Amino acid sequence: MRQALTQAKRAGDRGEVPVGAVVVSGGKVLSRGYNRPVGQNDPTAHAEVVAIRKAGRRRGNYRLVGCDLYVTLEPCAMCLGAAVQARLRRVVFGALDPKSGAVRSVMRFPFRKMNHRPELKGGLLAEECSRALKGFFVSQRVAPCNGHFRRSRRGGRVVEGDGLENRYPEQSGSWVRIPPSPPVQSPGVKRHQRT
Ligand SMILES: [Zn+2]
Repeated sequence: MRQALTQAKRAGDRGEVPVGAVVVSGGKVLSRGYNRPVGQNDPTAHAEVVAIRKAGRRRGNYRLVGCDLYVTLEPCAMCLGAAVQARLRRVVFGALDPKSGAVRSVMRFPFRKMNHRPELKGGLLAEECSRALKGFFVSQRVAPCNGHFRRSRRGGRVVEGDGLENRYPEQSGSWVRIPPSPPVQSPGVKRHQRT
C-alpha cells in the first residue's frame, strides 16, 4: 500500500485525483498505476485499470490468477468489474469512497452471481490514503461531483456545504474485512408435474 500511495502522489502531482494502485504477484510488484483520466482523456483510466492493464501485458495473459491489487481508495464498480475479469485473488483498499465506492459505500458490487469473487479487504493505511485525498482537494480547491471530481467553478472555492471533511472523514485505520458474498446458489430446477 505504501507503493500505491507513492503512485497516488504521482497522480496528484499531475493534477489528477490522487489515487494509486499496484498489482502484486508472489510478493513482488508486477505493475503500478495512478489515476489519469483527465490527462489521458479516458474515463476508464482509473489507477486500478491502469495497473491491471500493465500487469496483463507483463504477464502476457489476460488473467491475473493469484495476483492481488492494492489501491488507496475503495474501488468503483468499473474497477471491481475489471478485478473480476482479471480473476484477481484479492483486492485491498485504503480509504472509503463515499461517492463512488462499490464495495460498501454507495453499493455492494454484485459478486453474488459471478463465477469469481476476489477477497476484499479495506482500511489498510486508511488515514494516510484519506489524508492524501483531502490534501489534494484543499490545495487544488476542487469539489467532488457525482462520484468523480472536477474543478470548482465557483471562484475556485470549495462549495459551501460540500465539505471535504464529510467526503473523506478520518478513518479509524482499523483493518476491515469485507464479508464475502454468499456462495453462488445453483438455480433450483422446477419441474412441472402433471397432476
Ligand atoms: Zn474505478
